[in-house]
Amino acid sequence: MRRFGLIIFVAILAVIPLIPGLSVFWITLLDNIGLAALVAMGLVLLTGVGGLTSFGQAAFCGFGAYTSAVLTTRFGFDPWATLPAALAVTGLAAVVLGLVTVRLSGHFLPLGTIAWGISLYYLFGKIELLGRHDGVSGVPPLSIFGWSLIEPQAVYYVIWGFVVLAAIATTNLLDSRTGRAIRALRGGRVAAEAFGIEPARVKLLVFVYAALLAGLSGWLYAHVQRAVNPTPFGVNAGIEYLFMAVVGGAGQVWGALVGASLVILLKDALQRVVPFLFGTSAQYETIVFGVLLVAILQFAREGLWPRIVALFPEPPPPAVDRDAAPLAARAKAATQPLLAVAEARKTFGGLVAVNDVSFQVKRGEIVALIGPNGAGKSTTFNLITGVLDITAGDVTFAGQPIGGQRPQTIAGLGIARSFQHVKLLPDMSVLDNVALGAHLRGKAGFIQGLLRLDRAEEKRLIAEAARQIARVGLAEHMHKPAGSLALGQQRIVEIARALCLDPDLLLLDEPAAGLRHLEKAALSELLRHLRSQGVSVLLVEHDMGFVMNLTDHIVVLDFGTKIAEGPPAAIKQNPAVLAAYLGAPE
Ligand code: ADP
Ligand code: MG
Repeated sequence: MRRFGLIIFVAILAVIPLIPGLSVFWITLLDNIGLAALVAMGLVLLTGVGGLTSFGQAAFCGFGAYTSAVLTTRFGFDPWATLPAALAVTGLAAVVLGLVTVRLSGHFLPLGTIAWGISLYYLFGKIELLGRHDGVSGVPPLSIFGWSLIEPQAVYYVIWGFVVLAAIATTNLLDSRTGRAIRALRGGRVAAEAFGIEPARVKLLVFVYAALLAGLSGWLYAHVQRAVNPTPFGVNAGIEYLFMAVVGGAGQVWGALVGASLVILLKDALQRVVPFLFGTSAQYETIVFGVLLVAILQFAREGLWPRIVALFPEPPPPAVDRDAAPLAARAKAATQPLLAVAEARKTFGGLVAVNDVSFQVKRGEIVALIGPNGAGKSTTFNLITGVLDITAGDVTFAGQPIGGQRPQTIAGLGIARSFQHVKLLPDMSVLDNVALGAHLRGKAGFIQGLLRLDRAEEKRLIAEAARQIARVGLAEHMHKPAGSLALGQQRIVEIARALCLDPDLLLLDEPAAGLRHLEKAALSELLRHLRSQGVSVLLVEHDMGFVMNLTDHIVVLDFGTKIAEGPPAAIKQNPAVLAAYLGAPE
């Protein structure tokens, strides 16, 4: 179905310039759309998927364009020979800027991109070698076998060839292990790191990839325009590219094409129509353009592409190959105890959230951590999983000290978790959300994803995710967006995701909250089954009935301090526990 759509699209693209009577004007417009679509596609990945807003993308076009302009005019290079250099310069600039920029968060990130967008614009205009504000002219056109691609019709095929290739590569990338990691960025650092993803690395990767697409567009631009100056690489252009990505449908590769077409056609139409209607005393078209874009975003908040897709019958959900070879299981050490928390302490300023707490989880046990709200249970989880730095004390897992280690390292050792406040990607399918849990069990990298050389492994990752979803009883919801499930079910999805890591120890923060009676019974059954298979569980839970019937051992916290521990029967009658829970001894 998807392939069929692509073939039709390519066929249409191929015949457009052959339409009799189609003027050069329209072909030129299409060329410009293709050039812009390349940049917007990078932004779709960076901003739409990864959640990193960049206003400075046009500057990367500048790197590509100037590199080629200078090399061809001053040093006599062949245009094609400058492509690797243009990409290398753009990539290098992106690594340097990316290392600084992607560390910024919240509104500092877009502000950072505006700052370097402006600086680069002025820099391009100041450098003697780049011809200052006049730029570089006399850039040779591309040519193929001596045939100069000087006509818009001729270069059209080169531009759109690159657009189609970029769209295919980007789609591949999104549909891969790395693509899931990129998508996970929007769900926040904590959840991504809990499954072994390195957010800083992934952010830099998308940043460079988006920049390379812009650099490619710039390189093409230099040889289409045959001249380069700073104007098209400023922040104004950067804003326009961002508009294209957002209006088209940020997060959708083909949305970039829709956005680029819409913005360029609209601007062109307005430039012709508005002065005719309102006169030329002011640039009214800019105002009308802004108003129209806002109106479009009001009509389609997610951008236009999802609206277009909705007009067609829903494509079948991605196939899951149930016969795919299972992923290799983790070697499980027999160390006892599996987890030892010794005198763990965590302070937030003057507040002692966890006060020298010690307890153990033995292999094959289900242990509950209970206590009133604010007792320090979630904080204890965060100390074990490395989300928070431990103030004092030790945590040992399978004989290894893990206190103060990074969450990714701890995940790699076999500790998987769920969160009290569900951390799933609501727009992503349950299947993809769960597959994220298997991230550390795959190897395929960026390039394999891009070139689709990861299919064998990807099938196994997806099959594993499907198995874990079936195991927790949510098979029928596999292809739905995670956000469409009830909150209780979303917690169960988080358990499936954690199971995908093939953990030795499962940390569940209030897994039964929001579940109905039968669902709680099913969860109990699942946890017992996991225990019988050697998985140990540490859980936080408020439902006493649930905890008492299920667990082997209970640790009770109150105001950060352990007030009791023991088997459920003993805890039930412990006066200190009763006092903490009921306010007074019964
Ligand atoms: P529980 O999960 O048992 O309900 P928490 O571990 O979430 O409790 O919180 C324990 C205490 O630590 C609470 O008083 C809470 O307000 C405080 N706390 C938790 N996280 C932070 C934080 N990041 N900064 C400051 N205080 C925190
Ligand atoms: Mg909590």
